[in-house]
Amino acid sequence: MSVVTLTIDNQQVTVPAGTTVLEAARKAGVNIPTLCYLKGINEVGSCRICVVEANKSIQTACVHPVSEGMVVRTNTKRVRELRKGIFELIIANHNADCTICARNLNCELQRLGKELGVETTPYLKSYPEEEEIVSPTIVRDNSRCINCGRCVRVCDKVQEAGVLAFNGRSDKMFVSTFYDAPLEELSCINCGQCIVNCPVGALKEKDQTAEVWAVLNDPAKYVIVQTAPAVRAALGEEFGMPIGTPVTGKMAAALRRLGFKKVFDTDFAADVTIMEEGTELLGRVEKGGVLPMITSCSPGWIKFCEHNYPDLLDNLSTCKSPQNMMGALLKSHYAEMAGINPDDIVVVSVMPCTAKKFEVGREELEVDGRRDVDISITTRELAKMIKQADIDFTKLPDEKFDEFYGDSTGAAVIFGVTGGVMEAALRTLADILSGKDLQNVEYHDVRGLEGVREAEIEVKEGLKLKVALAHGGSNIKKLMDQVRSGKAPYHFIEVMACPGGCIMGGGQPIVSDQVRSEIDVAVERAKALYSEDEKAAEYRKSHQNPSVKRLYDEYLKEPNGHLSHKLLHTHYQKRG
Ligand code: SF4
Ligand code: SF4
Ligand code: SF4
Repeated sequence: MSVVTLTIDNQQVTVPAGTTVLEAARKAGVNIPTLCYLKGINEVGSCRICVVEANKSIQTACVHPVSEGMVVRTNTKRVRELRKGIFELIIANHNADCTICARNLNCELQRLGKELGVETTPYLKSYPEEEEIVSPTIVRDNSRCINCGRCVRVCDKVQEAGVLAFNGRSDKMFVSTFYDAPLEELSCINCGQCIVNCPVGALKEKDQTAEVWAVLNDPAKYVIVQTAPAVRAALGEEFGMPIGTPVTGKMAAALRRLGFKKVFDTDFAADVTIMEEGTELLGRVEKGGVLPMITSCSPGWIKFCEHNYPDLLDNLSTCKSPQNMMGALLKSHYAEMAGINPDDIVVVSVMPCTAKKFEVGREELEVDGRRDVDISITTRELAKMIKQADIDFTKLPDEKFDEFYGDSTGAAVIFGVTGGVMEAALRTLADILSGKDLQNVEYHDVRGLEGVREAEIEVKEGLKLKVALAHGGSNIKKLMDQVRSGKAPYHFIEVMACPGGCIMGGGQPIVSDQVRSEIDVAVERAKALYSEDEKAAEYRKSHQNPSVKRLYDEYLKEPNGHLSHKLLHTHYQKRG
């Protein structure tokens, strides 16, 4: 590999030839501001805020390659004035009423203004708000859009959905869909990756916090909350805690203080999922059913499959996602156990995922005319409610989930990271097939962040399961094309729509590109979940969950049985 040595702000740095000035500077620990830039995804140099002097000429650092002996200055008077001018031009077309913006205090444009020392500008003017609900999950406000193109590229290159586009020309240009068609009529998978990659407040989830407050204040309602595994790995970030801090106990305490009657854990239903999905897989392997069987926990993936691979719908596990299994069980078994009229129960789920908002509205996800889940909010919306209630989150004591539906295993908590569902399934399958309580519960072959992975796991003597995993639309497409061609030799495939899995879901706290250049957020959040798994020393396998055992003994009777099929399984539909 040929390398290049250059000087950036009087520091020598050696990098591979072809590196951009921006990446070289980041390697040297020198900060150059960016707005439109996303490493490997949007490297187009369109906003030009990253201008620097390179060998005394002005260059756009995110696209300009380094050369031997180059001298780069990132902070000269000329550079700062140019950046200020660019910033003022952006602001001249921007609805900058920060105090009522969803991204206030977590906005890359706002931070840039501070960094540049812009305290006043003649170009600031007021704009009419253009907020519009563009899908069951997404709200867009083009008056705040800076036309950086990050959402367009992420939707296309990372998620392979390709539903966003620039429309119009020059100062009339705006981001929408192709021909400005309604987003919900297109193959948008509601993943929210456009939201978490938007540097400003132009995109946000459909906010349902007011609906949650309304039911919490309704004495006739028995409001139960369930929280997905990945939420606990990221919620603390909203309160200034380091990325990767698990906050399970504080989260339970906060939910109780918000007024939920019961604080339950979606991890319980993740354990149930393993019982159901594992049984389904064994049945397909033994009876010659459709293989490879593909997981169905990720609603973004399900919609992706319905649009793009309708011929593979029979490969999907029929299991509902843990969110919906939990809702269906709460309104049947729990209602009966606790003596509550199921019609009085409101199930609120807290999810790392915007697609869950779409999922709860799917017509097939109800039992006896009752929705499984009534309202799904994101990790960000939960943080908003905690702030609205003036709860000092960091000072909360660690509390536990409520009994029974708050009981879970280490296998369930790793559902939140790519590879986690597969590993949880393998822990149970290996025990069941070998008839032993195996001591090795960690399957490192299926861990990691590589986009497509495969492994061969011996689950009992003489029986090897061939498995594969993919996360993020572009990786999923590679694997599904292989399945479609009939050349995929796998028994079982885990798919998660978001890159990294639910820990990086579209409903998680938003981390700026600058911080992401310093910290691998997915790695840190994954560590938080694996540490929770290790702490669950007593039970790290789903089939060991004593409350899940009781559920089957006293109510469901058997996995994949008649009642399970009624409550916990579903079907899918081909979409255009
Ligand atoms: S996008 Fe950023 S700069 Fe614009 S109004 Fe919102 S917080 Fe302020
Ligand atoms: S939610 Fe996902 S699929 Fe839909 S527009 Fe955003 S990035 Fe694209
Ligand atoms: S919506 Fe956000 S990410 Fe998309 S172009 Fe506008 S500012 Fe950029």
